[in-house]
Amino acid sequence: MTAETKTSVKNLINLLAPTQRDTQTCNSQLQKDPWAFDATLGYGPGASDTDTIPLSAPRQGPLPQLYRELSDEQLHERIQQAKATLGEDLVILGHFYQRDEIVKHADFIGDSFQLANAALTRESAKHIVFCGVHFMAETADILSTDDQSVILPNLAAGCSMADMADLPSVEACWEQLMEVYADEQDGEKAPVIPVTYMNSSAALKAFCGRNGGIVCTSSNAATVLEWAFERGQRVLFFPDQHLGRNIAKAMGISEEQMPLWWSKKPLGGNSEAELKDAKVILWNGFCSVHKRFTTAQIAQAREDYKDQNLRVIVHPECPAPVVEAADESGSTDYIRRAIEDATEPTVFAIGTEINMVNRLAAETPQHTIFCLDPVICPCSTMYRIHPGYLAWVLDELVEGRVVNQIQVPAEDQEHAKIALERMLAAKPRN
Ligand code: SF4
Repeated sequence: MTAETKTSVKNLINLLAPTQRDTQTCNSQLQKDPWAFDATLGYGPGASDTDTIPLSAPRQGPLPQLYRELSDEQLHERIQQAKATLGEDLVILGHFYQRDEIVKHADFIGDSFQLANAALTRESAKHIVFCGVHFMAETADILSTDDQSVILPNLAAGCSMADMADLPSVEACWEQLMEVYADEQDGEKAPVIPVTYMNSSAALKAFCGRNGGIVCTSSNAATVLEWAFERGQRVLFFPDQHLGRNIAKAMGISEEQMPLWWSKKPLGGNSEAELKDAKVILWNGFCSVHKRFTTAQIAQAREDYKDQNLRVIVHPECPAPVVEAADESGSTDYIRRAIEDATEPTVFAIGTEINMVNRLAAETPQHTIFCLDPVICPCSTMYRIHPGYLAWVLDELVEGRVVNQIQVPAEDQEHAKIALERMLAAKPRN
C-alpha cells in the first residue's frame, strides 16, 4: 500500500472487507460518493448524520454527469490542468480535515485561522476556491477584496455546529440578557461581550461586530477571552459549549459560573441570579465529530500502550472530561506541530477528525499515530468536497464562469469584518 493509499479515508473504507469487524465505519453510506446525497436534505453520512439541518441550509445542485464518471486519476489530471491554465488567478485553500485527494491540490493547508490569514496574502488571485465548509468560505469572502470571488466546490458543505446557533435565537438571547443586566449598563465594563467561534455564520460574526464582540478560533480562544474580559464582566460564547468551557476552565473559571443557554427556554433555562453570577454563558452547541471522543477511549489507549511513550492530544471541541483526561489539548495546528516537533519516536493517540489523523500518521512514520475513536467517522460536511466538485468549479472558471460563489450580504460584511479583524489581531499563545 502506498502512503497515499494508506492515508485516504475513502480507500480505507473501500478496503474494509465485510468480515473485518475490528474496524468499522459509523455509516455504511460513506462508501457512496457525495453526489449521491445532492438531492437529499441532510448533512450526509459521517459524524453529523443525525444532527438537525436547518431547512434554509444551502443545497448543491446535481454535479454534471461527466464529473461523476471520471476516475480518480482523470479528475486529478483535470484539476492540475485547470490550475495550470488559471495560474496566479487562482488560489486553492484546503482545511486539515479534507480528504487527501483534495489536500494535494491546495496552495495553502491549515485550520480556519491560518486559512483566513492565507486568503489575505493573495490579493492578486481573482478566485479563491475554498475546500472547507460554508462558514470558512464566508469568512474568506469578507476578508477578500471586492474583485475576488470565493467559491465553495459543494454548497452542501456546511457545518452542523455552526447551524446550532442562528441570528434570531442569538438576538433573542441578547435581548433577555440586556434586561437581566439592565442595572449594569453604565459600569466601566460592558455587562457582557459576545464571542463567536469562527464556526458560525457571517450573520453572527456581524452581530458580534455590532455589539462590541469578537470572533475566536480554537488557536486563539484564550487570547480572545482575555480580550473580552478586559472589556466586559462576562462573555456570551457561541456556538460551541465545549470550546468555551475548556478555555474558560483553563483560565480558572468554575463550572458554576458557566451556565448553559438553551435557546428554546426562557432565560436559556437559567435563573436571573445564575446569569448575574455568570462569567461565561455557553450556547448549547457542539461538534458531532469531537463529541464522539470519550474518557474510556483514552483509558483504553493508556492500557494498550502502557509500556510505551504515549501522548494523548485532543481538540478543545471535545467534552471537558476528555480534555482533562488527555495529556494535552489544542487546535489542529497545535496537534500538527506537537507531532512535528517530537524528537523521539512516540505513540500519539489523537482526538480529532480522522482525515487529519491518518495524514499525520502517513507523513511521520517514525511515530505511531492513531485516532482515539476506533470507528471511521469523518466530518459529514468536509466529506462533501470531492475532487469531482473541485474539477467542475475549476473547469467552469477556465470557461470564464463562476459557479458556487459565496457572497456575504453587504449589510453583514462591514460588522463581521470588524469582529474578524479583532480576531486576527489576537495572536494565538502557542
Ligand atoms: S469537524 Fe465539527 S466543527 Fe468542524 S466542520 Fe465538521 S461539524 Fe463543523
